[in-house]
Amino acid sequence: MQRYRFFVLFALGFGLAQALAAEPVLNLYSARHYQADEALYEDFTRKTGIRINRIEGKAQELIERIRNEGSNSPADVLLTADAASLAVADAWGLLAPVRSPFLEARIPAHLRSANWFAFTSRARLIIYNQRLLQASDVQTYEALADPKLKGLVCSTSGGHIYNLTLVAALVAHLGEAQTEAWARGVVANLARSPRGGDIDQIKSVATGECGVAVSNSYYLARLMASDKVEERNRVKRLGVIWPNQADRGTHINISGGGMVKTSKHPEAALKFLEYLASDAAQRHFANANNEWPVVSGLTFENEELAALGRMKADTISLAHIARELPKAQKILDRAGYR
Ligand code: FE
Repeated sequence: MQRYRFFVLFALGFGLAQALAAEPVLNLYSARHYQADEALYEDFTRKTGIRINRIEGKAQELIERIRNEGSNSPADVLLTADAASLAVADAWGLLAPVRSPFLEARIPAHLRSANWFAFTSRARLIIYNQRLLQASDVQTYEALADPKLKGLVCSTSGGHIYNLTLVAALVAHLGEAQTEAWARGVVANLARSPRGGDIDQIKSVATGECGVAVSNSYYLARLMASDKVEERNRVKRLGVIWPNQADRGTHINISGGGMVKTSKHPEAALKFLEYLASDAAQRHFANANNEWPVVSGLTFENEELAALGRMKADTISLAHIARELPKAQKILDRAGYR
């Protein structure tokens, strides 16, 4: 009896404490994999009083999880590190339309849809080994399929989301037939079977195991700023190309997010999305994670990004690229680009 009373009092007391502690909260499902984001979330909480519960995982896992959770999903915001994943979440009907004059004014139209927004951009650069190739050999993504690069190309797996999105962009620009011929050409040029992430490709190009590869810009900037002298030296010897400067511009991918349709905290979710487009957050993405702000005209201090220089970016709409993803996947399968 005594014990039971204690249990009841304890339970009631616990419930009361819970109720008192019902501070505003945001449940964030994030596929971003960067340590630097911690400071961003802390700054958001400091400014708004909204605490962030974060669940990290691969985009595909998070999307599956939201689907399985259904209307009970605690997720308020989904953040990913590429446009394709957002498009997939959207195609499953997981994202809510967000009307925000602030976001629409801050984020260029080609970097958002009705249901998701880019907060940073990153370029897919061509990096090459200067002992094995000349800059003039690798000025475009198309050049990677040129038979004279036989045995020199390294790549992540064909279906790696960064690669898949690039191929979807090629479909959007060149059409299906030409993109398939390109994919077959790249496969014929491979130095080894596709594996690893962008950092692995950079290392292999530096050692000369491969002559050329493609990498997201922030990985290169990260190595340029490394506190390990061998990493800094490794990238110093690499040739770096902004692809397709003479025509459509370099392929750009994004990191972005949207509000989950079943969000239980839509006001907090909107505040968070708008925070990510604020000057402070935009500068943080550049300074701490080597990504470019999507808001134009912002100054930031990042020597490595500055050293990469300026380029002409492809301004095709990411929503358009996303529509070509299924075709891109089929092309990669048919070409044996795995
Ligand atoms: Fe990445």
